[in-house]
Amino acid sequence: MANAVRTENAPVVIIGAGFAGLAAARALGAAGISTVVIDRQNHHLFQPLLYQVATAGLSAADIAAPIRTILRDLPDVGVLMDEVVGIDRVARSVQLASGGHITFAQLVVASGARHAYFRNPEWAAHAPGIKTIDDAIRVRRDLLLALERAETMRAEQRETRADHLTFVVVGGGPTGVELAGAIAELTRHAAERDFPHITRNCVRVILVDSGDRLLKALPEALSAAASRALMGLGVEIRLNARVTALAAGQIMIGDARLPAAVTIWAAGVAASPAARWLGAAADGSGRVLVGPDLALPDDAEIFVVGDTAAACNADGAAVPGVATAAKQMGEHAARAIIARRQQQPAPRFRYRHQGSMATIGRSHAVADLGWLQLSGLPGWLLWCTVHLWFLAGFRNRLVVGANWLWRYLTFESSARLITQQGNDMS
Ligand SMILES: Cc1cc2nc3c(=O)[nH]c(=O)nc-3n(C[C@H](O)[C@H](O)[C@H](O)COP(=O)(O)OP(=O)(O)OC[C@H]3O[C@@H](n4cnc5c(N)ncnc54)[C@H](O)[C@@H]3O)c2cc1C
Repeated sequence: MANAVRTENAPVVIIGAGFAGLAAARALGAAGISTVVIDRQNHHLFQPLLYQVATAGLSAADIAAPIRTILRDLPDVGVLMDEVVGIDRVARSVQLASGGHITFAQLVVASGARHAYFRNPEWAAHAPGIKTIDDAIRVRRDLLLALERAETMRAEQRETRADHLTFVVVGGGPTGVELAGAIAELTRHAAERDFPHITRNCVRVILVDSGDRLLKALPEALSAAASRALMGLGVEIRLNARVTALAAGQIMIGDARLPAAVTIWAAGVAASPAARWLGAAADGSGRVLVGPDLALPDDAEIFVVGDTAAACNADGAAVPGVATAAKQMGEHAARAIIARRQQQPAPRFRYRHQGSMATIGRSHAVADLGWLQLSGLPGWLLWCTVHLWFLAGFRNRLVVGANWLWRYLTFESSARLITQQGNDMS
């Protein structure tokens, strides 16, 4: 597309301060390139540990850090808290919910993904997913309230107590597996000590997946190890099972209706509306189709990275929607922008797979590094090391590490607080 507007003095604009956006901002800032990062939140969120906030293992502030603090040592990088509502490719500007706009010389779109409910958007009201801190605090509140209600039931209501203690997780990928394990520990081990009327036998945690095994991205042996560990925690696994309806307090799996005090959605994602903003071609999940350098095929100054992009490696394999891929894509977009500004061709993006892992409960994980596969305690120790390494901020690493050690020794969940939804960061 022809560049109709003069943009020589305009900054690089990055939409989103997730893994991809922050990686791009750091690399551009280090190269002294004027950059503005726009995010609707004031914090960067470490989503891989969000399930621990939802299950009362960690506090929200332990896994988030202010974007301004993360970028404060980069004088050429500015931060703007606002929501992007559109992109005008002709005017080379990003439109903001506050009513303003910002002109860009180059644009990096890194606005992530959200939940997808297989063309049933009404299910969202009954089966929240976890993507933001508010989502996680809502789920934590629902889980803890279910325990409180079951505990204080009158004698004549007690026959239905098991219905009020049935928790369903939909989706057998890493997030679903991690959630199911953590809910089982929270409800069957920790709560049992503090709720005299709740025994582990009246709690049901059900993990539903439409495929024939959990963790499809991992080798079969690790998938089987994860299933065994979950069953050891008392989780019922339903494979080849499809959710057909959802309503308050109940779920239909195939033809069977089940009571469900809390249902959590971990089954699908759709990209942010970036394809619509850009008028660009997208895949079935709404991810923008990008060229080998991660720029739009018809606009070399606009890059789309992270979960918003449908990118392919040199061998044609799709780049997965994971944090390490997002980080690598963000770094690559920055490299490509720097190359272009030096009149050099943009390099091709090459994804380096660094492994897949998932944790089950407080001391078990499965990890596939390609050359090494681990499960059980060794897998968990590797999982802890990797997650602490990638977590932003020394304080967060210290607090989260101490928390895991404490939970490993005592089974205690440190953040079992019921709070008004969305009004705190506890
Ligand atoms: C619960 C959960 C668990 C996960 N576990 C793992 C895991 O164990 N390992 C792993 O590798 N990956 C995991 N992932 C996936 C990983 O978190 C994502 O692949 C990664 O976050 C993608 O990074 P991103 O920068 O593309 O998007 P995000 O990290 O989602 O960042 C997008 C940013 O854009 C901002 N934004 C969105 N829309 C707008 C707008 N209109 N205006 C302004 N700002 C906007 C958002 O506020 C956000 O800060 C998990 C994801 C979830 C949800």
